[in-house]
Amino acid sequence: MEFCPNCGAMLLPNDDKLKCNSCGYIKDLASNDEQYSVSQKLNENKGVVNLGEAEDMRSQTTEICPECGHDKAYSEIKQTRSADEAPTRIFECAKCGHKWRNYN
Ligand SMILES: [Zn+2]
Ligand SMILES: [Zn+2]
Repeated sequence: MEFCPNCGAMLLPNDDKLKCNSCGYIKDLASNDEQYSVSQKLNENKGVVNLGEAEDMRSQTTEICPECGHDKAYSEIKQTRSADEAPTRIFECAKCGHKWRNYN
């Protein structure tokens, strides 16, 4: 049961609308449904964008750079194609950008 936001009278169903017989207010149910589905699509698109940002995230770790001796590097774990090989850790020096691998 819904009531008119203008005068408080009971809204009566009329096709796909709710109508107030006191003041003539009409609530269009069909257009409300449309707005709902549009906002849902927007949320789906946002989810895709967020996934892309998450892939770029790299964690910074304490690791000595063999090139310049700086002790902070970004680490990234790459899973090799064959399942019996351990995943490879790739480090990138936060100072000079040198990249190296660690097989431990
Ligand atoms: Zn009304
Ligand atoms: Zn370095």
